[in-house]
Amino acid sequence: MGSLLSGLAQLQSVENRLRAAKAKLARCRRSVVLQENRIRTEQNTLEAKKEELQLTRIQSDRLELDLRGRDQQIAKLRAALNTAKTNKEYASLLTILNTTKADNSKVETQILELMKAVEADEAECQKIRDEIEAQKEKLDQVRKEAESSAVALQQKVDSVQKEWDEAASMITPEALEVFRRVAETYDGEAVVDVEEQEGRSSVYSCGGCFMSITNESVNLLMTRDEIIRCANCTRILILKQNKN
Ligand SMILES: [Zn+2]
Repeated sequence: MGSLLSGLAQLQSVENRLRAAKAKLARCRRSVVLQENRIRTEQNTLEAKKEELQLTRIQSDRLELDLRGRDQQIAKLRAALNTAKTNKEYASLLTILNTTKADNSKVETQILELMKAVEADEAECQKIRDEIEAQKEKLDQVRKEAESSAVALQQKVDSVQKEWDEAASMITPEALEVFRRVAETYDGEAVVDVEEQEGRSSVYSCGGCFMSITNESVNLLMTRDEIIRCANCTRILILKQNKN
């Protein structure tokens, strides 16, 4: 393999290591963000629960007020009963009184249920608060760990980046530009081996997209030190057997 193609092969190998190192660093930083997100989700849940709790309290207060009004009404009805002048008037007042009492007992039941809901919501809020506290402690831990590993991972990225720059300086700017473009398209995989198809000698395919490569292209690769790209996926082709 000529110097251009072997240079590209070398650059590809460094590119792979550089991407791996950068991915590791990104994963390390993401661990902090993930933990922060976990806490934010819990905080949102807490806010929603608090709002729900507030609404239940308002509803309960309203019913209490309603109940107090009805109690006053009952007191008035009782007084009126004592001063009823006729049996008819007494009977009618008694009916109203009983209906009001029955309504009151329904409202009382509703209030009791709402109070139970308030208690449950308060307990739930406390549980979420505790969870948030625990997650915050964990965040400190995750952050400390991430910070210390990030230093080493960043150093690794920097050192591989140096290797990359060196490897890149070994090839022409035009070739480098092609490499960059293809690498961008294929997640870093710019240079691929031409592979002999299994069980069929002299039939070749692209190691990236597995489509056939013409014998003409393979001949060019064997004889010239030029960039030949897969006609299908445009990746840069090199010959496996000619490596080193
Ligand atoms: Zn291809």
